[in-house]
Amino acid sequence: MRRPIVAGNWKANLTAGEAAALVRQLKASCETAAAEVVVCPPFTALAAVAPLLKGSRIALGAQDVFWEPAGAFTGEVTPPMLRDAGCQYVIVGHSERRTHFGETDQIVRRKLQAALAHGLTPIVCIGETLAQREAGQTFDILTRQLDGALGDCPPETCRRLILAYEPVWAIGTGKNATPEQAQEAHQAIRRWVADRCGSSAGGGIRIQYGGSVTPANAASLLQQPDVDGALVGGASLKADAFSAIVKAAKTGAAAPHE
Ligand code: PEP
Repeated sequence: MRRPIVAGNWKANLTAGEAAALVRQLKASCETAAAEVVVCPPFTALAAVAPLLKGSRIALGAQDVFWEPAGAFTGEVTPPMLRDAGCQYVIVGHSERRTHFGETDQIVRRKLQAALAHGLTPIVCIGETLAQREAGQTFDILTRQLDGALGDCPPETCRRLILAYEPVWAIGTGKNATPEQAQEAHQAIRRWVADRCGSSAGGGIRIQYGGSVTPANAASLLQQPDVDGALVGGASLKADAFSAIVKAAKTGAAAPHE
């Protein structure tokens, strides 16, 4: 049984004080959550949020990480720094980083390996653009991204990370993938993991869906057998909306893949 995991990506939003206020609201509403819940504030709010989450059911994540542990890399934030700040998770390869900051699959691979080496659980994002989907290239793109980021990882690596299928055309657009589109992609991703890392890794890996998830569409997406939770952007900035999405992710909603 895969426990659903719902993560909020706050992107470049919220000051430390605003982030703390949001977390205080979420703590109350996520107290009885069946799903695992993660919030990913901006770096500058991690220190304010971490103590508030102690003893709660919400884990802390970051939105990005550098691959070296320390050194002359101005502006970067390293895995040991994230651990020190209380993070358990880190988003890697978000499409906004790929698009705006030129992150390649090779960079994504370095980041995810560094995260794992320092005990962080990476949430690795992959997904196709609208042009790629319309050209019938969705599965080629997903395969290329998986090969690039994970291709030479040992099979046990697959057990230690989370994948997020985030079609680029659905992120922040209000246009989510249909449950059928999401299920089709998730099934293909799970098959890739099973082929490379064995059926147990394929059956066990959790794959989140991300892209305009809202309280209105969460249940139908999360009911799909290969959808194991959600990576939520815009709706994670509102306590009511995020809590409703968390509640839609019930343990057992995602049956193990055959
Ligand atoms: C995201 O940032 O990963 C995301 C899915 O954003 P949104 O929910 O706003 O589409």
